[in-house]
Amino acid sequence: MRNRTVAEEIKFSGITLHKGENSTITLKPLDEGSGIIFQRGDVRIPLSPDSVVDTTMATTIGKDNIKIHTIEHLMSAIWSLGISNLLIEIDTVEPPVLDGSSIKFLEDIEKSGLIEQSNLREKLVIEREVSVRDGERFVSISPNHGKGLSIYSKIDFSHPAIGIQEFAVDIDLESYRKEVAPARTFGFIKDFEKLKAMGLALGANYDNVIVVGEEEVLNGDGLRFENEFVRHKILDVIGDLSILGMDIDGSYRSFASSHALNSQLVKKILSDKRNYSVKS
Ligand SMILES: [Zn+2]
Repeated sequence: MRNRTVAEEIKFSGITLHKGENSTITLKPLDEGSGIIFQRGDVRIPLSPDSVVDTTMATTIGKDNIKIHTIEHLMSAIWSLGISNLLIEIDTVEPPVLDGSSIKFLEDIEKSGLIEQSNLREKLVIEREVSVRDGERFVSISPNHGKGLSIYSKIDFSHPAIGIQEFAVDIDLESYRKEVAPARTFGFIKDFEKLKAMGLALGANYDNVIVVGEEEVLNGDGLRFENEFVRHKILDVIGDLSILGMDIDGSYRSFASSHALNSQLVKKILSDKRNYSVKS
């Protein structure tokens, strides 16, 4: 597959999830070799593992006191579309949350059109298992022998609306579009006050989050998938792995994954050249 960029400028606007501000992002084409670059004012932040500055509830990148929060849903769609070179201008500190999933990013970018560039997209091939643990939680990635990115994820919330959920999917654009991209982020009503006190979830509402009450999902329309929660975890994983800046050949598995564990996994993969090779 060749590198891709957007054919023309495309904008997204709306409220942001954590900071609750109105935000507009403008995606613009970039030449070969540019990579994915976020720009706020004059500050350009290249998407790379070194740019990640915080992973509390969301993935935040930063440089020179400028931070951009919650990039994972947008990046999940961009990576799945095979986009390697892109400028993302942003007028505030966080992309709009839209409906809490990545489906609108995916569909609108596709509709606006993509351009194939001259070089082949580099692929990071996992050569041996790498894992990160935190108590019972773990994330791992192991060789997938040319089958691309496969993801298995499991969660266990002792809550009647969620419980144990697991899902496995081989990621390509079609499976991503149907099985993963529509899955929305979620939060527990009992946590919202605490999160708001931390300056998080300030823009959360029934149109952009699955709101979980004491017993049940409180959104009037219910769920998009019966296991929407674990599917959203997979959406997040792809956004967090996109920071590698390449296509991926690896089999990812997790129990109770988090942005923090995914970020540690990315750094651990890159920390030892025996863990991976790069092919194009
Ligand atoms: Zn998410």
